[in-house]
Amino acid sequence: MAHTSASLMELEERYGAHNYHPLPVVLDRGEGVHVWDVEGKKYYDFLSAYSAVNQGHCHPKIVGALTEQAKKLTLTSRAFYNSKLGEYEKYMSETFGFDKILPMNSGAEAVETAIKIARKWGYEKKGVAENAGIIVVCEGNFHGRTTTIISFSDDQDARANFGPYTSGFVSIPYNDIAALNFALMNENVVGFLVEPIQGEAGVNTPADTFIAQAAELCKERNVLFMADEVQTGIARTGSMLAVCGNCTCGNTCERQSTYSKPDLLILGKALSGGVYPVSAVLADDTVMEVIKPGQHGSTFGGNPIAAEVAMAALEVVKEEGLAPHARELGAYFREKMNDIIGETDLVTKVRGKGLLNAIIINDTPDSSTAWDICVALKDNGLLAKPTHGNIIRFAPPLVMTKEQMDECVAIIRKTLFEFRK
Ligand SMILES: *Cc1c(COP(=O)(O)O)cnc(C)c1O
Repeated sequence: MAHTSASLMELEERYGAHNYHPLPVVLDRGEGVHVWDVEGKKYYDFLSAYSAVNQGHCHPKIVGALTEQAKKLTLTSRAFYNSKLGEYEKYMSETFGFDKILPMNSGAEAVETAIKIARKWGYEKKGVAENAGIIVVCEGNFHGRTTTIISFSDDQDARANFGPYTSGFVSIPYNDIAALNFALMNENVVGFLVEPIQGEAGVNTPADTFIAQAAELCKERNVLFMADEVQTGIARTGSMLAVCGNCTCGNTCERQSTYSKPDLLILGKALSGGVYPVSAVLADDTVMEVIKPGQHGSTFGGNPIAAEVAMAALEVVKEEGLAPHARELGAYFREKMNDIIGETDLVTKVRGKGLLNAIIINDTPDSSTAWDICVALKDNGLLAKPTHGNIIRFAPPLVMTKEQMDECVAIIRKTLFEFRK
């Protein structure tokens, strides 16, 4: 039976829990920067599955790694060794410059893992009294959807009626060094968990100095600097990691003075190029050694498919120079958006770094204008999604060419100029 977009949306409506509110488009196929709906209409993907598909849809090298490994060995659990995990762990440690990696699957699991490690480190290494450890987080944060993580969210949709909540978190305003300084006066603080740019909060981009200063403060106070790079990492913001600062070398390299090395680095999303759920926490031995056999784990974490897929996905980032490319194309994109802002009062601002950007729509936060613009963009062949408060995130796959970007800018321009509130 041939399915139409309408009938497929009906199926999801009828049989799926209503925990998302998707844009009305049903995707069937993807290649590079493009996706096609079931009727065959072609779109530019300007969301990249929340920055999971940085390497482009169905990248042949990554899909190749997946299918080859899937034919050979898929899952052993960690009850046994497998022939790919060690190689992957070495590759990850060398690429990101850490002693060790702890492999998980989803981003939220990796954040949970980092929280557990930070607490255990606090009690066993820092000498904080058991159960007194505090992790400082930021207002507007998004770190995933588990019970503990939503306990320190300030998004009421994410939180309301899911209590009782996990305690041990203190929230400070984002991009506020003075507030961090004050929060870290408390000797029970074991970690500072932060997104280098707050993606879900609307690509909330801090002062250039914020991350470096935060990392420095954490070092001074013997607090773990925990960088959630699930969305900002893997070349999205124009360097391998957002904490790399201005370096575009495609690895993390400690030679760079702009590099703020996290004590706990949290990765997910584009670590697999959107092909498979792969996440990771990286740390040096002084931190990672608090985890001993039986104290943490995951049936699928570190499986051989994940190992092969992640190595291929990172190879693509390096081989295709996606970090410097994202930096250049991102600057070009913001320049073009600023031209548009000069000509219409529908958009007030563009912000972001590399190819993680957003435009702020000139309307009240609870109006549907950003959503309506996204529906119009879809009709014109470009897919993007609003974030909180009338903001539209623009995050295409990093493999986009300048010519394709010009086409996308033309679609955005046309849509905004035709749009009637
Ligand atoms: C998406 C995201 C997560 C959660 O990842 P999931 O794979 O959806 O669990 C965590 N942190 C940040 C910054 C994210 O963008």
